[in-house]
Amino acid sequence: MSDKRQDYISWDEYFMGVAQLSAMRSKDPNTQVGACIVSQDNKILSMGYNGFPIGCSDDEFPWSREGEELERKYVYTVHSELNAILNYRGGSLEGAKLYVTLFPCNECAKAIIQAGIRELIYDDNKYADTVSVIASRRMLESAGVVLKRYRRSGRKIQLEL
Ligand SMILES: [Zn+2]
Repeated sequence: MSDKRQDYISWDEYFMGVAQLSAMRSKDPNTQVGACIVSQDNKILSMGYNGFPIGCSDDEFPWSREGEELERKYVYTVHSELNAILNYRGGSLEGAKLYVTLFPCNECAKAIIQAGIRELIYDDNKYADTVSVIASRRMLESAGVVLKRYRRSGRKIQLEL
């Protein structure tokens, strides 16, 4: 028997870690969100982060949160959850699990439900009191999507890239 400590990450750490890594691809200067869709037998099916649609350049479209409505990011961005759903070209996501670093908005909740995703594991929920997130939770609960708050392990991982 070796004294070497078993030091592998759990499934939850793995998939939330992948979601966090995906978030780091986002060019949003204020909110980077990442998502990872996983099959029931723990295979990664898709990933996503918040950004503008393909062909809509970050140089032309605004990341601003203030100003004229057409100069704010909100009308243009595709959220990480929706991107992960749309990035999947393999067929059905029926019964899949979604890991996401921030609780989904109401628009993403609709897509999650309609895609057949059955379980949602979320980390941050800083907008819990907003109309969008209250509506989101209401729809997800009605649709029977299992909602789980991610339990942070406190593990720190340093990657040399
Ligand atoms: Zn959303």
